[in-house]
Amino acid sequence: MRALLLEKDAAGAFSASVGTIDAAQLPEGDVRVAIEYSTLNYKDGLAITQKGPVVRTWPMVAGIDGAGVVVSSSHPAFKPGDRVVHNGWGLGETRWGCMSEEASLRGDWLVHLPASLSTRQAMAIGTAGYTAMLCVMALQEQGVGPEAGEVLVTGATGGVGSVAVALLARAGYRVVAATGKATEAPYLQALGAAEVLDRATLSAPGKPLQKERWAAVVDTVGSHTLVNALAQTRYGGVVTACGLAQGGDLSGTVMPFILRGVRLIGVDSVMAPLARRQEAWARLAKELDPALLEQMVTEVSLDDAVEAARRLMDGQVRGRVVVRLHG
Ligand code: NDP
Repeated sequence: MRALLLEKDAAGAFSASVGTIDAAQLPEGDVRVAIEYSTLNYKDGLAITQKGPVVRTWPMVAGIDGAGVVVSSSHPAFKPGDRVVHNGWGLGETRWGCMSEEASLRGDWLVHLPASLSTRQAMAIGTAGYTAMLCVMALQEQGVGPEAGEVLVTGATGGVGSVAVALLARAGYRVVAATGKATEAPYLQALGAAEVLDRATLSAPGKPLQKERWAAVVDTVGSHTLVNALAQTRYGGVVTACGLAQGGDLSGTVMPFILRGVRLIGVDSVMAPLARRQEAWARLAKELDPALLEQMVTEVSLDDAVEAARRLMDGQVRGRVVVRLHG
């Protein structure tokens, strides 16, 4: 079967290319899935271009996410023909991933695909969109409703950002989208952003406390942007942090926490418990407008995935990239 292989030769030289693997080489697992679509998340981009230390064992099959149909199963929750989605759990990092015509997975990791979603839509959402939903759930669980005020989304044209904008706008929030791509303002407005902000206003070091503006923030970029977002969050507001597109550093002060009661909530998708995943996917099936989702998607074949990963890492991609395994 064909798969996107990430390899290191004896001299340590890295390569990413489509090759052939034998079914017998697949890792142990209790559910075998014929993968129809995978996707390029930021982490896939890091792995495929070797820009970040994502891959821990070599050779690796890329792809942290996959959606497809169960071929065989010894897990009680799954039977042949079931449509499933897989996100995270170390795939493409420590265990062979889903950019492969078949994947050997664990049933305890899999979510039954909601009936209204196709496997292609599931991968248009992917870990990025599912993480956006985890952020929305987190801020709602903290009691932030649409009446609380404006919500800032950073990295807005990215995968997490695009889905977060669409979900929040549809739920009735006034969304302000921060982006470095001024030409994509019409795209962000079509997703539901009420206002588009130049990300440069957030990306340099700023004062510990700034004018209060945000009732909540979905931050996908970290670093100074996250520190400034905290400094601009209103009394009692909530900031969800899930990403590091600007950087993994966090050089701020405690002032927003101790003087304004701002809450900083970390969001992880990779090891999130199954019940939380099921809730997120059920809500995505209901609350994400499929027409808007389609506007976010670029589809590439497995053969074009390496080039698409380079574009993603160069910041040239808008929204989400799905990878077609067949045809
Ligand atoms: P994308 O590459 O699709 O989007 C990232 C966006 O961040 C870009 O489109 C760009 O948006 C913005 N950006 C890029 N570079 C910079 C920079 N130097 N300064 C400020 N903004 C920048 O990635 P995803 O949306 O898939 O992921 C976003 C982040 O979330 C990544 O760091 C990823 O690792 C993380 N993530 C974390 C997860 C978790 O479980 N916690 C799960 C999924 C993702 P624009 O041009 O609009 O400004």
